[in-house]
Amino acid sequence: MNRKYRKTVIAGNWKMNKTPSETKEFMTQLKTIMPRGRWCDVALCVPAVCIPAAVRAMRETRVGIGAENCNPNPSGAYTGEIATNMLVDAGCKYVIIGHSERRAMGETDADVNAKVLAALEAGLVPIMCCGETLEQREAGITDEWIAMQIKLGLKGVPEEKIRKVIIAYEPIWAIGTGRTATPEQAEEVCENIRTVVRKLYSSKNARAISILYGGSMNEKNAFELLAQPDIDGGLIGGASLVPEKFVKIIEAANQPTV
Ligand code: PEP
Repeated sequence: MNRKYRKTVIAGNWKMNKTPSETKEFMTQLKTIMPRGRWCDVALCVPAVCIPAAVRAMRETRVGIGAENCNPNPSGAYTGEIATNMLVDAGCKYVIIGHSERRAMGETDADVNAKVLAALEAGLVPIMCCGETLEQREAGITDEWIAMQIKLGLKGVPEEKIRKVIIAYEPIWAIGTGRTATPEQAEEVCENIRTVVRKLYSSKNARAISILYGGSMNEKNAFELLAQPDIDGGLIGGASLVPEKFVKIIEAANQPTV
C-alpha cells in the first residue's frame, strides 16, 4: 500500500451467497464492529437481489455497496441482465467486472472492456479483474497474459477517467482454493500491472491507481499481503462472508506504508 499516493480499498465479493434477509443480518452485525478509523475505503459487492437491503442497511456508513456484474447496454431486450444506470439508481457505487468465474462462463476481454466503459459512463467504480491460470504461471507467461488483459480491458478509457478504475489481480489458482499467492508473487504481478498502466497512461496515473490482490486473502494473511508497496487492498471472497473476518482484514489495512 502507499496511502500517500492512492486509496487503499478492501472489497468483498459475496458471489452467489446470502439472501436479502441474511444480508440485513450481516450488515447489522458489521455495523456494530466496524472500525472507526478511515484508513481504507470499504466495499461490499453483493448479489443483485441483495443490493436494496445492503444499501438500506449501510446508508449512513462508510461502506459502499457494489454489484458483481453489469450489462454494457443502456436498456433493451437482454432478459435477466442489469444495466449500469439501474445499479446507480439502486444505490451502488462499485461493480466487479471480468471476474474469472464470469470469464469461465464465456465473458471475453471485449465484453470486459465494454462493461468498464459503461460503468465509468454511469459513474460507477469498476473493479476490473485479471488473473492467470496455474498452467499459464507454470509456462512463465503470467506477465504477458496479465498485460494483455489490462490493455484490452482498458481500451478507450480516457486519461481523465483512468484513476476511477480499480484493478484486481486475482490468480485463478488462488481463488477459493485456500492457496494464496505469496506476498512476493502477488507484489510482482501488481507491480507489473502498474508498469502497464504507466506505459498506457502516465507515471502520475500509474502511481494513483489502486491495485488489489484477490485469492484466498483472509484475516491471517492480509497484513503481509497489504504490506507490499503495490498491493493497495484486497478483493475478498470467502472471508467477506463473515463480519468478524472481514473486519480483521480492514484492520490489517491499518499499518505504516512506504
Ligand atoms: C474472489 O471471489 O474474488 C476471491 C478472491 O475469492 P476467495 O477470497 O474466496 O479466494
